[in-house]
Amino acid sequence: MSIRIEIEQCTGCGSCVDVCPFGIIEIVDDIAQIGEGCNLCGACRDACTFEAIIIEVPVEAAPADDAYRGVWVYAEQQDGQLKGVSYELLSKGRELADTLGTELCAVCFGHNVADVSRLAAYGADRVFLIDDPALAKQQEDIYAAELVRLIRENKPEIVLAGATSFGRAFFPRVAAVLKTGLTADCTGLEIDPETGLLRQTRPTFGGNIMATILCRTRRPQMSTVRPRVFKRNTPDKTRQGEIIKVDFDKERVTARTRLLDFVRDLTERVKLEDADIIVSGGRGLGKPENFDVIRALANALGAAVGSSRPPVDEGWIPYAHQVGQTGKTVCPKLYIACGISGAVQHLAGMQTADIIVAINNDPNAPIFEVATYGLVGDLFKIVPLLTERLKGGQ
Ligand SMILES: Cc1cc2nc3c(=O)[nH]c(=O)nc-3n(C[C@H](O)[C@H](O)[C@H](O)COP(=O)(O)OP(=O)(O)OC[C@H]3O[C@@H](n4cnc5c(N)ncnc54)[C@H](O)[C@@H]3O)c2cc1C
Repeated sequence: MSIRIEIEQCTGCGSCVDVCPFGIIEIVDDIAQIGEGCNLCGACRDACTFEAIIIEVPVEAAPADDAYRGVWVYAEQQDGQLKGVSYELLSKGRELADTLGTELCAVCFGHNVADVSRLAAYGADRVFLIDDPALAKQQEDIYAAELVRLIRENKPEIVLAGATSFGRAFFPRVAAVLKTGLTADCTGLEIDPETGLLRQTRPTFGGNIMATILCRTRRPQMSTVRPRVFKRNTPDKTRQGEIIKVDFDKERVTARTRLLDFVRDLTERVKLEDADIIVSGGRGLGKPENFDVIRALANALGAAVGSSRPPVDEGWIPYAHQVGQTGKTVCPKLYIACGISGAVQHLAGMQTADIIVAINNDPNAPIFEVATYGLVGDLFKIVPLLTERLKGGQ
């Protein structure tokens, strides 16, 4: 790190002199000068109201050791079916690999997994497949041990996985064993054009700021991404990838846990993530019965019903309907937000929708900043009119 004075900004006011715990700042010709012995504590920078003191954190280039090459996507399956997030990550991974001029690989563990060739259609140059009855059910410690082994043998520079309930449990184990960094729940991934490092962006501090995180010195760089955050490309069925079958290392890998049963959450009947159209209601609905207005429009459109967090907190609608940072991330073709202000935590879950329609009686509501179409007015007048029109009424 280093410290410098922006001469253009500095007025020589001396507020930095007063706060420096080491007494090493003096004003010379109306400009602050920092003497020997600065430990970059930042007290002077914080005191400067003119933003004239800059502490720079250098972005180091990736380690010169370029043994680590290639972008990997862990392609998650359940009961032999690949999950949609695998295709979304491959679509993003293809973009990252092309920017780096390197290859994109998928890694898949399971037994009799269907349609593995689709991973190539979505961009994988090579697919590492471990197919064994012992891997039929997802088991964190076995999967983690095998992924660690493959990473150590092949040295990819970037490894991505879905932030599904399984991904969230097993991927941090892999990062911990490899002693590398992992950024969870990323909403943006890109390659830094100067350093070639992966810029991993995610909401933090309750979604109030977006943090971009770099893993500068350890490899691989690892991230998880929630389903539906990235769009999947159209598959290219003519694309051929190499499928590399890897033996499961039965002798070496022993599980410390036993999978007794897999219990589905039966309260989770709403498949918001898969819906093409979602009509959501917010606090503007005022009371639980008013969700009927939302349900009527949803029925007319064949849509799923979503909600912002306050109606869920109030018990108006179950949690399974909540969209946002602490709810679901959705990416429908059409998202209709009714009586929702557009707080960052809500936007984090729906702003990648193709078309956003906002209905709100406050013309200054932030939701209008992301809306494709905005209707300023009372939702209790607008939504029933829309519903009637869609049903073919007057
Ligand atoms: C850590 C953390 C996580 C969070 N996670 C989530 C999350 O996952 N999802 C989420 O949604 N929120 C989340 N929140 C809460 C978030 O900050 C907001 O408080 C919330 O999104 C606001 O919900 P709302 O827009 O329904 O309510 P409000 O902000 O109260 O907005 C209600 C809107 O309704 C409009 N309105 C009122 N009456 C009418 C009417 N008759 N016709 C038309 N419009 C009307 C008002 O103008 C207003 O804009 C989180 C907060 C924190 C701190």
